[in-house]
Amino acid sequence: MSSKRKITVAYGDGIGPEIMEATINILEAAGAQLEYDVIEIGEQVYLKGISSGMEPSAFESLRETKVFLKAPITTPQGGGFKSLNVTTRTSFGLFANVRPCKAFSPFIHTHFPKTDMVIIRENEEDLYAGIEHRGTQEVVQSIKLISQPGSEKIIRYAFEYAKKYGRKKVTCMTKDNIMKLADGLFHRTFDEIAKEYPSIQTDHKIIDIGTALIADRPEIFDVIVTLNLYGDIISDVAAQVTGSVGLGGSANVGEEVAMFEAIHGSAPDIAGMGIANPSGLLNGAIMMLVHIGQPEVAEKISNAWMKTLEDGIHTGDVYQEGISTIKAGTKEFAQAVIDRL
Ligand code: NAD
Repeated sequence: MSSKRKITVAYGDGIGPEIMEATINILEAAGAQLEYDVIEIGEQVYLKGISSGMEPSAFESLRETKVFLKAPITTPQGGGFKSLNVTTRTSFGLFANVRPCKAFSPFIHTHFPKTDMVIIRENEEDLYAGIEHRGTQEVVQSIKLISQPGSEKIIRYAFEYAKKYGRKKVTCMTKDNIMKLADGLFHRTFDEIAKEYPSIQTDHKIIDIGTALIADRPEIFDVIVTLNLYGDIISDVAAQVTGSVGLGGSANVGEEVAMFEAIHGSAPDIAGMGIANPSGLLNGAIMMLVHIGQPEVAEKISNAWMKTLEDGIHTGDVYQEGISTIKAGTKEFAQAVIDRL
């Protein structure tokens, strides 16, 4: 029997195929023990009239492998189509969205070189539960759903994450001064669960001032746990302040299935030009390797990737005169990482 771990892979749309090829070449060169079940998602599938953007066989593959490495897809504009991400999250109970935001100063320019935080966002509830009604022509209702079990699950996940990765503080962000019941439930649950982790510092910030602090003093944060909508917004702010939106990876984790991807989209404006930065997807793949129990390979790739950045080999999106030495295309960048493994 093969000792290789089978994973589901989707090459996606736009720059997806280019950055997936680069990522898989690096995974293979690093000796990752992987076998790939390639599925089709996104534009081609939407064109067949499948509104979820994923064929039934793709769901089958995920049920079997339980691990999904996904390149970005182009979401069709207009009605009738579901967000493939939301469908995957709800179909497989991917309750935790984990997004590390780290500065790579001085190699990648940022005003906040000490930034190193992980945002853990609840992924199934809140206003994303999709409970909406039209009252009258002039009034609609959109329900914010927060449950005690859902809150417990994500908050405990955040503390366990902090423990596992040696992080010192977990900050909860809510708006419980206004939404006393919904956000109040989340905050109270946080205070209760915090008692089980006495060695980890805790803190609570109202989301508006919390967001302002991420934009101004991001170094004060370590792990942040928050509700779905707030997490969606602050994770983009946090990625932006590190100056590295093109570098970030993320994980969507459930009890059984997990999905790993770049934080950016399919970048149709540069598709096919061979200049896309594969780092976001590669960092998603590094998180995947840790998840499936191949942490040594993850570390090897992470070190080679950082050395590539340190040597000034940068793709166009992060290239800076005076800091960068070579403006690399996607393939050239991937080869530079492979050369440093
Ligand atoms: P985008 O992230 O695709 O692009 C924003 C800008 O960043 C563009 O100028 C692009 O060229 C640049 N960029 C993004 N990734 C890059 C990379 N790896 N290397 C170099 N430059 C990069 O955002 P958008 O233009 O708003 O969205 C395009 C499509 O992607 C939309 O259809 C959107 O719905 C979809 N999208 C998908 C996902 C996903 O699949 N997870 C996430 C976000 C957006």
